[in-house]
Amino acid sequence: SSNLFSVVDQPRYRPVGRVPAQIRNRRKRIVVTGGAGFVGSHLVDKLIARGDDVIGIDNFFTGRRGNVVHHFGNPRFELIRHDVVDPILLENFLAGILSFSILDTLFKDDPIPTLGLYLWIENLDIRLYKTNVMGTLNMLGLAKRIGARFLLTSTSEVYGDPLEHPQKETYWGHVNPIGVRSCYDEGKRTAETLTMDYHRGAGVEVRIARIFNTYGPRMCLDDGRVVSNFVAQAIRKQPLTVYGDGLQTRSFQYVSDLVDGLVALMEGEHVGPFNLGNPGEFTMLELAEVVKETIDPSARIEFKSNTEDDPHKRKPDITKAKELLNWEPKISLREGLPRMVSDFRNRMLNEDEGKVL
Ligand code: NAD
Ligand code: UDP
Ligand code: UDP
Repeated sequence: SSNLFSVVDQPRYRPVGRVPAQIRNRRKRIVVTGGAGFVGSHLVDKLIARGDDVIGIDNFFTGRRGNVVHHFGNPRFELIRHDVVDPILLENFLAGILSFSILDTLFKDDPIPTLGLYLWIENLDIRLYKTNVMGTLNMLGLAKRIGARFLLTSTSEVYGDPLEHPQKETYWGHVNPIGVRSCYDEGKRTAETLTMDYHRGAGVEVRIARIFNTYGPRMCLDDGRVVSNFVAQAIRKQPLTVYGDGLQTRSFQYVSDLVDGLVALMEGEHVGPFNLGNPGEFTMLELAEVVKETIDPSARIEFKSNTEDDPHKRKPDITKAKELLNWEPKISLREGLPRMVSDFRNRMLNEDEGKVL
């Protein structure tokens, strides 16, 4: 089989001469792990729309068939129920781009204090770590075997509670290795390590994106992230729960901007890592104000204690992505938020009616 995507950053792998147009333009087969999730399903939409064949792999842990149901019946789309912690052999798979997009859920809400639930949440952290480490390893093994390009969706969490602001890709981060969020931060850091080792050691062509907080339609309703919490709370006429003093900052990116960045990265010549995020920086109190303006100006705010090791601030420096990928986000928070509200309303209505979408 042909290896369309030789390693571009290492001259010894550079293909000799030009790749013929009929091969270069051949439509790609792309695996999207986490393809039924929030980001994954938007990526699937974009790839299907431009004519690629897509195989989604998902264990439906936080993802839903409803996110990709509109592609069912399309012969160019396939959805496999599988946990990437276990190896998978995809036979007859031609060289293509392999995209990786996995679980990103930290359950921060105080759980109902039953032993069962606590145990389950403990296991969830380990599950998250296994997905990031063993899942990434398995997908890298697959990419190596079939000669595919591999994209890792890493996270701004690799910077931890940053001492550099805004964060550039050169910053090594400030992460507590034994804290309550380490399963996620360190899992992704290890995933980046594995990705670079497969690149250097086995010649796998890789790309690394460091994604900053992203929001939009199809976000998981109850995974405890701040945008989904505030939007759902405002719709339900419940108070918006601000953790701590609400002065911590985040930068919020609309999902279509992220997907454009991921595709530019997949198609481009650079390994990365690249920060993909919107540099607009907001305190959680400012975010609550924007949610109020958008959904319900009379919404109240309720302060709750913050979680341990919560990063104080976060804002991407996106100079590198602007220069090398010619990418920058287009949609501001005030433009993006209204676009997720009707999706949330519909899903919450159906949830109340007991329909699983
Ligand atoms: P999500 O929870 O909506 O999507 C994750 C998907 O992966 C879900 O469909 C889930 O069922 C599936 N999944 C989880 N574990 C799996 C496993 N072991 N095997 C197979 N499927 C599994 O989350 P998302 O926001 O769409 O995140 C997608 C990716 O982007 C993740 O890698 C995440 O770390 C990264 N990311 C997202 C954000 C953000 O703000 N949304 C920020 C930084 C990084
Ligand atoms: N792997 C996979 N699908 C494949 C090829 C590999 O899931 O098509 C898994 C494999 O089971 C292993 C991991 O990816 O756990 C790393 O594979 P690699 O070949 O690099 O390592 P090895 O199997 O030699 O330890
Ligand atoms: N947060 C909040 N209220 C909520 C959920 C989260 O104030 O209902 C805060 C949280 O403490 C953190 C910020 O919002 O400072 C972003 O949290 P999220 O989990 O969305 O993203 P991450 O911490 O992973 O960047």
